[in-house]
Amino acid sequence: MRALALDFGSRKLGVRELAEPRIERDTQVLLRIHEVGVCATDRELAAFRLGRTPLGSDFLVPGHEAVAQVLRAGSAVSAVNAGDWVVPVVRHACVPACAMCARGRADLCMTGRYTESGIFGRHGFWQTRVVEDQDHLVRLPLLLAEFGVLVEPLSVVEKVIERALEIHPAGIAEALILGAGAVGLLAAQVLQLRGVAVAIFSVEPPDHPRAQWVRNYGMTYLTGMPSDSRFDFILEACGSATSALAAMPSLAPLGVMAILGARNALGTVPFERLLLNNQAVFGSVNAAPAHYRAAINDLARMDTSALSSLLTRRPFLDYAASFGPDAGAAIKLAHAIGDTHSAVR
Ligand code: BGC
Repeated sequence: MRALALDFGSRKLGVRELAEPRIERDTQVLLRIHEVGVCATDRELAAFRLGRTPLGSDFLVPGHEAVAQVLRAGSAVSAVNAGDWVVPVVRHACVPACAMCARGRADLCMTGRYTESGIFGRHGFWQTRVVEDQDHLVRLPLLLAEFGVLVEPLSVVEKVIERALEIHPAGIAEALILGAGAVGLLAAQVLQLRGVAVAIFSVEPPDHPRAQWVRNYGMTYLTGMPSDSRFDFILEACGSATSALAAMPSLAPLGVMAILGARNALGTVPFERLLLNNQAVFGSVNAAPAHYRAAINDLARMDTSALSSLLTRRPFLDYAASFGPDAGAAIKLAHAIGDTHSAVR
């Protein structure tokens, strides 16, 4: 069986043959991986700045954004049947489970000893077949299989927006998103579904296809930081702490800001504004199965042409360009993994 592997010894990404996986417990399911998405985390992995191999392995199969089809289900599996489309859940609980992992919220793990498929200590989905426990699968209606690869990034968005809505005491009317990448544009659509007016700040010039996408779907595109403080919610989805700090004065009273990708940078945090305006700043990572289900519900309500225009599809073997520092103009790259595609025979 063909797989993509990050070799941590030679620090190279390449194709290798792996043994076919087998169902070993009756709650397990054999999957045919159909498509895998690539994001900034994968590029960090390919640069060997992130990630951990599974115990006893010197390589890691990447791929954490996946859509798959059930080939065979173990005898005790009740959640899915052969032929069903599913999305695998990335994070697995720490062992022994901490209080949050024990409650099914490995996304809020308190020990940091969780594993993540394709990222930390567990092989991912860039391989033609995978065995997964039924607890780590979320069913996807056949009609949404085409967009299934967006479910994992969208689950991360669902979690962060759910939290922001819980924190804001008066409700969110206006939101500013930093970054017009896949996560930013998915978040924009989720917020619109919740009746929120959305502005997006990003580095692309106003005539860039992403800026046009933003305007086409009824959002405001900003190339400079707004000078007023009108946003109830600011979502950092650009990976830049400098932009996040620059945006903080744009938070309205009671405003909530969430950090999804920014790493540390030198700058000024306006603590006095925060306290005088009852504002909140929080970080968020990963998502629970309930957020995957929320993502699937929202995908069904989103404009299919907007979703299609986010996706650029490539064959399995064209992986090198997608993992490079400049992956091109595509918003979300998805690679065909399954046998149904011509590149993998
Ligand atoms: C994934 C999350 C994961 C995080 C950190 C992101 O790209 O979407 O599921 O928790 O990386 O590993």
